[in-house]
Amino acid sequence: MAVRVILGLLLTVVASGLAGRRLLMLYRLGRAGQPAEPGRTRGVAARVRAELTEVLGQRKLLKWTVPGTAHLLTFWGFLILGLTLIEGYGALVDRDFHLPWIGTQPWLGFLEDLFAVAVLLAVLVFAAIRLRHLPAREGTRSRFFGSHLGGAWLILFMIFNVVWTLLLYRGAQINTGNFPYADGAFASEVVARVLAPLGTTANDVIETAGLLLALGVVLTFLVIVVHSKHLHIFTAAPNVAFSRRPRALGALQPVRSGGKLVDFDDPGEDDVIGRGAIEDFTWKGMLDFASCTECGRCQSQCPAWNTGKPLSPKLLIMSLRDHALAKAPYLLAGDDHAGVDALAAAEAQRPLVAEGGVITPDVLWSCTTCGACVEQCPVDIEHVDHIVDMRRYQVVMEASFPREAAVLLRNLEHAGDPWGRGAANRLDWTAKLDFPVRVLGDGEALPDDAEYLFWVGCAGAFDERAVRTSQAVAELLHTAGVGYAVLGSGETCTGDPARRLGNELLFQELARQNVATLTAAGVRKIVTTCAHCFNSLANEYPQLGGTFEVVHHTQLLSRLLAEGRLTPVTPVQATVTYHDPCYLGRHNRIFAPPRDILGSVAGVRLTEPDRTRERSFCCGAGGARMWLEEPLGTRINEARTDELLATGADVVAAACPYCIDMLADGVAQRAAEGVTVTDVAGVLLRSVRAIPDDPEGATR
Ligand code: SF4
Ligand code: SF4
Repeated sequence: MAVRVILGLLLTVVASGLAGRRLLMLYRLGRAGQPAEPGRTRGVAARVRAELTEVLGQRKLLKWTVPGTAHLLTFWGFLILGLTLIEGYGALVDRDFHLPWIGTQPWLGFLEDLFAVAVLLAVLVFAAIRLRHLPAREGTRSRFFGSHLGGAWLILFMIFNVVWTLLLYRGAQINTGNFPYADGAFASEVVARVLAPLGTTANDVIETAGLLLALGVVLTFLVIVVHSKHLHIFTAAPNVAFSRRPRALGALQPVRSGGKLVDFDDPGEDDVIGRGAIEDFTWKGMLDFASCTECGRCQSQCPAWNTGKPLSPKLLIMSLRDHALAKAPYLLAGDDHAGVDALAAAEAQRPLVAEGGVITPDVLWSCTTCGACVEQCPVDIEHVDHIVDMRRYQVVMEASFPREAAVLLRNLEHAGDPWGRGAANRLDWTAKLDFPVRVLGDGEALPDDAEYLFWVGCAGAFDERAVRTSQAVAELLHTAGVGYAVLGSGETCTGDPARRLGNELLFQELARQNVATLTAAGVRKIVTTCAHCFNSLANEYPQLGGTFEVVHHTQLLSRLLAEGRLTPVTPVQATVTYHDPCYLGRHNRIFAPPRDILGSVAGVRLTEPDRTRERSFCCGAGGARMWLEEPLGTRINEARTDELLATGADVVAAACPYCIDMLADGVAQRAAEGVTVTDVAGVLLRSVRAIPDDPEGATR
């Protein structure tokens, strides 16, 4: 008995010491980061709900049924088998130990064995999935490409060891008469039957050896976990608890330096804009990096990675984590770096973003900020925020960005729109309309009978295809009798491309100007056709004091249809597929209204592409990529066009001018005869107008 106690405690002390030292280092590393923005603990109900659904319910993991179920079984298996650990420690000192009150109930013995077997099955499933998707065979298509493969196999081996050693000592316990459960523990009973012929003395030894072995395996597992990517076992739950709610999409975070909001009118001398070094990230950023499971779900959905660009959100997060760990001795040494080992000192000199740096510029600038990674990530890592934060530093502190971005930024600065057309031409789109559009003059307030301010947007004013959408929406609102006015030359770019590119200064300038104009005009309700304008106006302008009720035109039009103020009359005989724009769908959860509109038009046969709604594949235009070259890999818009054409549709509908441009280019590139690309409003107008078979109608 004494041997059991001494060896058991010795193992525990050594393992706890090793694990504790590592955890302390990780804690100190997290503390070396910047303070996180306030609000990370606000909204307790939503956070508790997230813990229940994301962590206990494994909601995101279960979106992929087979690996999700295997993970669910492993997760719950470890929770339930935690009870056997308590029983094991109890049995060290008292061979007859059982959990107080419930410790001899057959259902508990059954439950423990059931999950032990379930975990074994899950290990087999994980192994099969890994063998099926070997990076050596699938290359970059494998979601495990770039993951620590050896470490993952070691963990699977350790989980297997945890279960078989557990069953071994439980089986022996049954034969020595020390097992708490007279009935129910079916797997242990099978093992007991196998061991029984060895006799009581042998079973006595096996029980003690098995118990020490089982504890030893669990403790070794603990040490391995805190030194590996399986650290997520401990960090995932807090990471989910402190994540942005409802999700890290929609608005970008305002810029903070040292935890304080940067005043762009009078920035402080020491203010750092964005992240230029690993220690510029907040502790939540560090927690994100420590939480990555290397599952590759983000990578499998990333439009950049899927079209041969070097950006994988998984590899990006892993690189940041590996760099943080390698630089840790330097960061934690305080001001005296004399004793820091050479490797850590060298890592400290590595730039965060540079050729040969932790992240290369091609990786950083490949992101479309589509949010597919954030949507997929089972541990709620906030990739887009981190990417844009690194862009902010590059642009504002280093003046380093892709060459073509200079043209975009210059146009935004001087003309207030990405094309450089200028405010004076913002009303050109109204010229061919056969009804008047009310335009607010400088300083004029929105009249009482104008319910909405129609935010036309730069694309809606200047881009040929988007102009058709502006005209269609204007006509539909006019038909429905909705009062609205536009700003005309008083409107300027919302600043979305500048912000996503990292030029926060320019975003602030443009956005403040717009907030001032809208506020002075007494605007309360805004309707817009652009998913990016929608996102900025609805989600980001409140950061600058501009709080408006913003609706996307598909929301307003579907409501007008429901109220009977618009009536589709002419059938549109077409097979239509709808592409969910990332900034409307994934970022803002507007999925139903565009489909409701299409569903209201007689003759329309709606067909969904394989990737749809939350899983929609980006068109390639977001994150200011609309104005950047795409020299690496294949083109994202063509990949998405192929998915949409595969539905057999003759009309590709979207609800964002950027998407429509990108997909129209894709259709032209694929020379898809007879396929038109249009805004949802164009399809509706064709039916409302009662013009039979207007050949231009589908694109108007
Ligand atoms: S936001 Fe989109 S493009 Fe950027 S890393 Fe995530 S999935 Fe890739
Ligand atoms: S970032 Fe999230 S989705 Fe991507 S590999 Fe890590 S845990 Fe998986």
